Amino acid sequence: MDIKYVIIIQCDLAQRRCSGFACTNAFYNKDGLFASYPEGTRYISFTCGGCCGKGIAAKLEQFAKKADKKINLKKDEVVVHLSSCMVTDNHHSDRCPHLEYIKSIVNKKGYENIVEGSYISAGATRKSAANIYRSYE
Ligand code: SF4
Ligand code: SF4
Repeated sequence: MDIKYVIIIQCDLAQRRCSGFACTNAFYNKDGLFASYPEGTRYISFTCGGCCGKGIAAKLEQFAKKADKKINLKKDEVVVHLSSCMVTDNHHSDRCPHLEYIKSIVNKKGYENIVEGSYISAGATRKSAANIYRSYE
């Protein structure tokens, strides 16, 4: 699989109080889930558009059109990460209740490479190892 682009979809609710810095930083540092992407992989993040996540369809469509036209990007060259704040259950927030619906939209728009998670904090890793947070992976 020749991956050229990573999209991180953030929770719109979380994004109101989060710049997304930790996710971006993890991508550029090739931490954790981003470790295997080749040098030069591009990156973008945007939010789901708000509950129930339906707005992601239009965003992905617009992304696909622009990316095809400007850089000839194919959908199988893209990995869509669902941000950690969407997929984990912790004391800040619950797992997104619309996750399966959002995944089905991403699929329907032609993106088959979907990864649950983005930035993983050291604290979350510790707690997860101690089984404090529920793991869905
Ligand atoms: S995973 Fe963390 S850094 Fe990334 S968007 Fe969610 S709250 Fe922000
Ligand atoms: S649909 Fe899920 S990811 Fe999007 S704002 Fe609502 S809770 Fe967050």
